[in-house]
Amino acid sequence: MKALITGGAGFIGSHLAERLLREGDEVTIIDDLSTGSFDNIAHLEGNPRFRYVIDTILNEGVMADLVAESDIVYHLAAAVGVAYVMDNILKSLKINIRGTEIVLEQANIKKQKVILFSTSEVYGKSNSLPFKEDQDRLLGPTTINRWSYAVTKALDEILALAYWREKKLPVTIVRCFNTVGPRQTGQYGMVLPRFVRQALLNQPMTVYGDGKQTRCFTSVLDVVDAVYKLAQSEKAVGGIFNVGSDHEITILDLAKIVKKRTGSKSKLELIPYDKAYESGFEDMRRRVPDLQLIQKTIGYEASVGLDELVDSVIRYFEE
Ligand code: UDP
Repeated sequence: MKALITGGAGFIGSHLAERLLREGDEVTIIDDLSTGSFDNIAHLEGNPRFRYVIDTILNEGVMADLVAESDIVYHLAAAVGVAYVMDNILKSLKINIRGTEIVLEQANIKKQKVILFSTSEVYGKSNSLPFKEDQDRLLGPTTINRWSYAVTKALDEILALAYWREKKLPVTIVRCFNTVGPRQTGQYGMVLPRFVRQALLNQPMTVYGDGKQTRCFTSVLDVVDAVYKLAQSEKAVGGIFNVGSDHEITILDLAKIVKKRTGSKSKLELIPYDKAYESGFEDMRRRVPDLQLIQKTIGYEASVGLDELVDSVIRYFEE
């Protein structure tokens, strides 16, 4: 297969590139290096089946050529993370909306399959747990910046589904739940790389709110494996799939695990949300995926446990 990965120099995209190369695919990535990094793909340079293009997906001419040459498009290029989106609202709206539109328009010409990366953020602050793909969503007001991320990603999903229903463009949508692992940076707010870095430097570990909010952390290797299998599955076309782990943990307990496994002397510091983000910030108390659909479709099980996952991130930062 000839695969195109948009956002291929990012955290998840670079792991996906590695996996596809291992499977024997030819891999082209396009990345504008806005949040991705050349370091993430430097080790792939020299592989004759790997090619990279440094450009934005908003460049329609370049995208037309790259998509036309591909058999499948994995679309990951997007504004990444709650903190980044809140600091770059207009840029995020443009890349998440227009960028996805360009990918779908171009893929529709020759009907190449599109794997669209979405996010658990689209469920918003729903209290109906675990989150099932077809359940109601609950978002806060448009005046609270956080929700713009969920709105753009939901719009991407709606656009992709419309291309499937009206134009028979094969699309599969994956909603990732707190994906973590080596190469993820804490620069855009993500909690695990931030905690690990703080712990290794013996700096205070910044737990936001009361720390009792929960998340389920998933290894990027499990996510990539699930995505690869979904891309092979005919049954997955036209579908939306949660990809994650259902092992729920509070952020405070995550901080304690990181502290213990690094042997750090860091103190845990509780920081109110309005200081960490901005006044009026809303967080979700719990976020847990329902994994029945993906289990039924590709027999998915998350295989990397939390301790192992935390250790892999510690090793990455130590190196
Ligand atoms: N968080 C935290 N300290 C940090 C960064 C994040 O306590 O230094 C919290 C954040 O408020 C959220 C959780 O950790 O409740 C997960 O945040 P992240 O940005 O990793 O992902 P999200 O679930 O918000 O998409």
